[in-house]
Amino acid sequence: VVNLGMPTRSVVTTCAYCGVGCSFKAELRGDELVRMVPYKGGDANEGHSCVKGRFAFGYATHPDRKLEPMIRESADDEWQVVDWATAISYTARKLLEVQAKHGPASIGGITSSRTTNEEVYVVQKMIRAAFGNNNVDTCARVCHSPTGYGLKQTFGTSAGTQDFKSVAAADVIVVIGANPTDAHPVFASRMKKRLREGAKLIVLDPRRIDLVRSPHVEAQYHLKLQPGTNVAVVNAFAHVVVTEGLVDQSFVDDRCEGYEEWAEFIARPENSPEATEPITGVPAADLRAAARLYATGGNSAIYYGLGVTEHSQGSTMVMGMANLAMATGNIGRDGVGVNPLRGQNNVQGSCDMGSFPHELSGYRHVSDDAVREVFETLWGRPILPEPGLRIPNMFDAAIDGTFKALFVQGEDIAQSDPNTKHVFAALQSLDLLVVQDLFINETAKLAHVFLPGTSFLEKDGTFTNAERRINRVRPVMAPKTGKHEWQVACEIAEAMGYPMKYGHPSEIMDEIAAVTPTFSGVSFAKLDKLGSVQWPCNDNAPEGTPIMHVDKFVRGKGHFVPTTFVPTDERSTRKFPLILTTGRILSQYNVGAQTRRTANVAWHPEDLLEIHPHDAEVRGINDGDMVALSSRVGETTLRAVISDRMPVGVVYTTFHHPVTGANVVTTENSDWATNCPEYKVTAVQVGLRTPH
Ligand code: SF4
Repeated sequence: VVNLGMPTRSVVTTCAYCGVGCSFKAELRGDELVRMVPYKGGDANEGHSCVKGRFAFGYATHPDRKLEPMIRESADDEWQVVDWATAISYTARKLLEVQAKHGPASIGGITSSRTTNEEVYVVQKMIRAAFGNNNVDTCARVCHSPTGYGLKQTFGTSAGTQDFKSVAAADVIVVIGANPTDAHPVFASRMKKRLREGAKLIVLDPRRIDLVRSPHVEAQYHLKLQPGTNVAVVNAFAHVVVTEGLVDQSFVDDRCEGYEEWAEFIARPENSPEATEPITGVPAADLRAAARLYATGGNSAIYYGLGVTEHSQGSTMVMGMANLAMATGNIGRDGVGVNPLRGQNNVQGSCDMGSFPHELSGYRHVSDDAVREVFETLWGRPILPEPGLRIPNMFDAAIDGTFKALFVQGEDIAQSDPNTKHVFAALQSLDLLVVQDLFINETAKLAHVFLPGTSFLEKDGTFTNAERRINRVRPVMAPKTGKHEWQVACEIAEAMGYPMKYGHPSEIMDEIAAVTPTFSGVSFAKLDKLGSVQWPCNDNAPEGTPIMHVDKFVRGKGHFVPTTFVPTDERSTRKFPLILTTGRILSQYNVGAQTRRTANVAWHPEDLLEIHPHDAEVRGINDGDMVALSSRVGETTLRAVISDRMPVGVVYTTFHHPVTGANVVTTENSDWATNCPEYKVTAVQVGLRTPH
């Protein structure tokens, strides 16, 4: 421990871990960051923090960081350190060469949810205007893309309905496929406060998360569903509401459309709790009681996570929850709503900024002539009306030989995306892989160009959190790399023949506001004055919109969508009799690139496999044994922890460490609408690796 003495100045900025978006005072002595103090004036956290934001910032100055650009002809060659001018002209020339040889659509890029809105916006602009195609995607592809699809179909926009404060008015809190105490700790504290005050809790999760039973908090219902049966459960909830006369008919009649068709579908006997119990494993009596509580318990709010979206029916499940909320009138006021707990600090923002291959900023489809015209006029370049490639399509096209160059901004796709073998094969097929990151991560190990990125302490811009709150990210120190990430994208675009010039990130936000109706009232000056605003922020709502769909839905009428349950193709078999599901733990973050380089690693030095005592006993596994975890696509080795948190037949692990790599075993199955991978259901076998 180095004692740096008392701080002499401070800068208010935003945590770069999860989608809660806590504000901190970064306290410095000279140029040394002494500590991060949770900021009482932060609208998202009101002075609270967790062990990641408070303590795990040392990665930003870790010696592993690469601060200079590097190039090499092949991934087998040694890196050659070059200056920025060389790196940028080399990258631009190689991208143009690939396009000249393989066609305009043979290149693309992935934006980062760790960077600012402004940095994401310029990268998607570089791809659309300089690369000349819509081959841009974001890591939301592998987490909340079903949220984007499902909430847009039903409510009209791709974001959660409430502000975090709203939970204080909830009487019934439903947590579905989320583990807030580990993954969104500061919001979990707000939730627990409300539960201690007497709100009721329903948890839908195969695993007994901490929230089910913690000091002074106990769930009324923990429905331990079989992985992959979410839609059957939400349909059974709605079946109870419709068939027991619990529908808020005046809300439905005034505010929604498509109800009759949906109600006829949902009332069918196959959607009843009794009919679905053998599939879901949820006792019908418990499900009926929980559904009645949701429908009649006062204000009922749904909070959900990747246990909803990372399924073959992720988008269907999002629509199922929206149907349920509309049928019971739980939308458009304090204490209710349908709320995705978004993972990364700026995953909401990366989606808002037009990182999807089918949407420009503000979730407007590229096929809309009027929308394209706005961008084409300002950018001076045509935009293709056809959507580009999604990440999994890029991988497939790379293996087919039609997609040849990829720009990856701050995302370790080689570790985070499913079916590692397939991802490696795709990346190794590329003629050019450009990685912009802090570290030589698993993806960068395969790259031809490495462009050093900046940590959150060096950034100037905005992040948007899970409640649509746009927070300022202020520079605590100058970029250690000598260049901001937005400048790098601008210079690559210019070297490719498309000049993109800004003097400051505030000018990028001004452009975002000019082309995005939901951001038209946003500026750095307003954010500095108000602290933060929640989009939509425009003439109708100059100070932002804490709660959406108050008088009418964004799409006009809320739209009921029938949600037929279709079982996943991923089934347990004699060879792979267990189901693996994955998640995160409190001290670590996603692929661990940041937290593994901080003292937090001491709390979780390796990924562990949780296995039920019965499943362990029949395999001769003792607590702490090394075990082989295998699926039809791969095999890895982990340490077993015997735990009754999991039901019999289901095992669980995290994916924070590259050595164990849970995604070696996850498969290519994905959500039917968005290709979000089905991380939460993989048929596996577990066997003893080391003899006793
Ligand atoms: Fe950072 Fe999330 Fe922890 Fe807040 S709750 S300090 S945003 S990791």
